Amino acid sequence: MNILVLNCGSSSLKFQVIATDLEAIERDEDRMLARGVLERIGTEALITLRAEGRAPVRDAVPLRDHRAALDHVLHWLVSPDSGVPGISSLSDIHAVGHRIVHGGERLTRSLLIDDAAIEQIAECIELAPLHNPANLKGIQSARQVFGSGIPQAAVFDTSFHSTMPPESFLYALPYQLYVRHRVRRYGFHGTSHRYVAYRYRQLSGHDYEGTNIITLHLGNGCSACAIRKGASIDTSMGMTPAEGLVMGTRSGDLDPSVLEFLHHKEGMSFDELDSLINKRSGLLGVSGLTNDMRDLLAEEKEHEDRRARLAVELFCLRVRKYIGAYLARMNGADAVVFTGGIGENSPDIRGRIAADLDFFGIQPDEERNRELVGGREGEFGAEGSRIRLFVIPTNEELLIARDTLRCVLGVPRRW
Ligand code: AMP
Repeated sequence: MNILVLNCGSSSLKFQVIATDLEAIERDEDRMLARGVLERIGTEALITLRAEGRAPVRDAVPLRDHRAALDHVLHWLVSPDSGVPGISSLSDIHAVGHRIVHGGERLTRSLLIDDAAIEQIAECIELAPLHNPANLKGIQSARQVFGSGIPQAAVFDTSFHSTMPPESFLYALPYQLYVRHRVRRYGFHGTSHRYVAYRYRQLSGHDYEGTNIITLHLGNGCSACAIRKGASIDTSMGMTPAEGLVMGTRSGDLDPSVLEFLHHKEGMSFDELDSLINKRSGLLGVSGLTNDMRDLLAEEKEHEDRRARLAVELFCLRVRKYIGAYLARMNGADAVVFTGGIGENSPDIRGRIAADLDFFGIQPDEERNRELVGGREGEFGAEGSRIRLFVIPTNEELLIARDTLRCVLGVPRRW
């Protein structure tokens, strides 16, 4: 089955076409036929499209909205020039899988999309006002193009964390606020944490029962997850993605009273404070330079920029604190797994996070660590490191395609 995986952001659309079936899943032989990114939708969009085995094609085309972006993608997919194997007409696409950011408390498993599901996803807009509306635009656009002819499935970023117990997901606020408004921690990046846990099981030979690990998704957004017996029991993002680790532009954990203080001192409104902690903080806020870790590391090295160094140090220290917290949370773990743009590509950051944790039995091997870049999967713990260290490049799209297939076939799913 050829599955179109869509990940729609407020002004972007990312897609992959993945050919898979139950046998391919079993043998890990799913095949990515095409992928692409369309950014700055609403203006002159920047487009990168790539068919399997071919060089990427870049273009800039005015695209009004997500529907126009999807039309552009589909037109390219079926055109003979694109060279996407096995796709020559729309009927070669058999299902669509959507990444949906927030499923709230009720949408805890991937599901086939019908009117009721759309309504429930819309109900979660108040929890994810930036993300869910864009995700819904992707669903509506695909419905307009394909009609009811092909099934569509929703895969939620939050669902992997639905196994968190109340002591992990509740805030220490009056309980009535949870009852009345569902003010609680939901966690995000769930599909990524779930994917790396799945790969860990494959690499280590453990089953769900034996999967007791800490996963670190370190990209522009960052989160840590404590996984016990294969299930998420705690994660660092909260009711929104703002909580937890230091990120590209998000502050992560913060004394909530700072916001009230700034409201008085600087006359900042709630909207401004929201933008402050989500868009102007983190690596960008501390360095005053950029949210891009590559550039910060270069500034630190080449110009000995003090604030670039401070931003990187804050970033690493926060991750280390979460590792310590989750080791306590789980009474130890068998492995720490790094993923995301930074986790997959920066031996420097991984090394700084994993240094001086030998008390816990964490000992990185410098040489092995240096070799794991550019999408390479592997282990970098030293001989004798009690806790194993892995780099596992994430692949959320693959899980979305597989979940879509399982939804279509009615195969039971854990999430
Ligand atoms: P993501 O959101 O997962 O795409 O990750 C984006 C982040 O990964 C950005 O901060 C990039 O600077 C960072 N990144 C990508 N490649 C490298 C690298 N080689 N070294 C350090 N950071 C990197």
